[in-house]
Amino acid sequence: MDIFNSAQYSNHERIIFINNCQVGLKAIIAIHDRTLGPALGGCRFWNYRDEEEGLYDVLRLSKGMTYKAALANVNLGGGKAIIFADSQNKKTPQIMHAMGTAINELKGEYITGPDIGTGVKDMTIIHEKTPYVIGVDEAYGGYGDPARSTSLGVFMGIKAAVQYKWGASDLKGIRILIQGLGHVGMNLCNHLHGEKATLIVSDIDSIKVQEAQKKYQAISVEPEKVYDVEADIFSPCAFGAVINDNTISKLNFSIIAGGANNQLEYNKHGKHLFENEIIYLPDYVVNGGGLIQVAAEWYKEPYEVYGPKVKKVYDSCLNIIKKSYNENIDTNQAANLIAEKKISEQQKII
Ligand code: NAD
Repeated sequence: MDIFNSAQYSNHERIIFINNCQVGLKAIIAIHDRTLGPALGGCRFWNYRDEEEGLYDVLRLSKGMTYKAALANVNLGGGKAIIFADSQNKKTPQIMHAMGTAINELKGEYITGPDIGTGVKDMTIIHEKTPYVIGVDEAYGGYGDPARSTSLGVFMGIKAAVQYKWGASDLKGIRILIQGLGHVGMNLCNHLHGEKATLIVSDIDSIKVQEAQKKYQAISVEPEKVYDVEADIFSPCAFGAVINDNTISKLNFSIIAGGANNQLEYNKHGKHLFENEIIYLPDYVVNGGGLIQVAAEWYKEPYEVYGPKVKKVYDSCLNIIKKSYNENIDTNQAANLIAEKKISEQQKII
């Protein structure tokens, strides 16, 4: 495996391989960049096809966290951890303890948190071995579900895009399609309904759809029909890669802004949206509210301090849209340039 020359390696500071045969822990921690602060990123527990797939995932995700943290203005760098699950996905307290010990040996260079396959319970077990963890049980100082901050940030991003596109300061009468009514999507409906937006919702869970219909007078659409809907805004809040070769030519929206990670299947799709004058808010910026809450948990900031920071997702999104139009580049490129500038300016100071 040629790591340093692989496409996913991007000047990562450190890659730590962890092997504890006694408890059956095989894991990798990648620390991408700590210019802006300690490297923070979740710990994924996943049954990878092979080691190479896991390694490339942790390299890619840790770099993504560097950019996300820079754009969320949270004084953190980017890192990520993966634990190789076996085919039975056996997750034991011993495995989590061993992971906690490994993280502790890094003395705060890397801070972990929940991710796909891990949750509050796992972080609380890791916390028994190291203080370098967030997303623990509220009894141990955790701040609870970050989705409420994620959804507030998405709402602020939508408002910024609407202000830019139509010069409107509220969402009255604007038609918004929300795909996925989970922790983020349902909370987002609440914010949007508060501003009298017209909601069109979709979820594979009919109980959630009924809840949104009842509480927010939402119109529902079957999951397989969402890409045929015509609306002002599309808010993907279910899963990634919804903007792909099959869907892109159907999209009948002026703005795309949602909580889901990795909404663009490939970068070329962001370029296509820009060329077709659809404002796309990069997912890792518009869903950064959750990271702002998590950072506040780490730095022990109360809601009065971090709540206004979440609302600043509005400014970050507006800056990106303006830069994209001024420089004739898509919004993902604009966001990346802003993050890279921030990191290089800090490097000059250090
Ligand atoms: P969730 O699991 O609570 O909700 C996802 C919802 O999508 C569920 O209600 C599910 O039934 C629905 N869904 C699944 N397949 C669907 C389909 N084909 N069509 C319509 N709906 C479908 O997850 P969440 O915490 O709300 O997160 C949503 C997305 O946002 C995820 O991609 C997540 O990675 C991302 N995200 C979440 C946070 C956070 O703070 N929770 C932060 C950043 C990014």
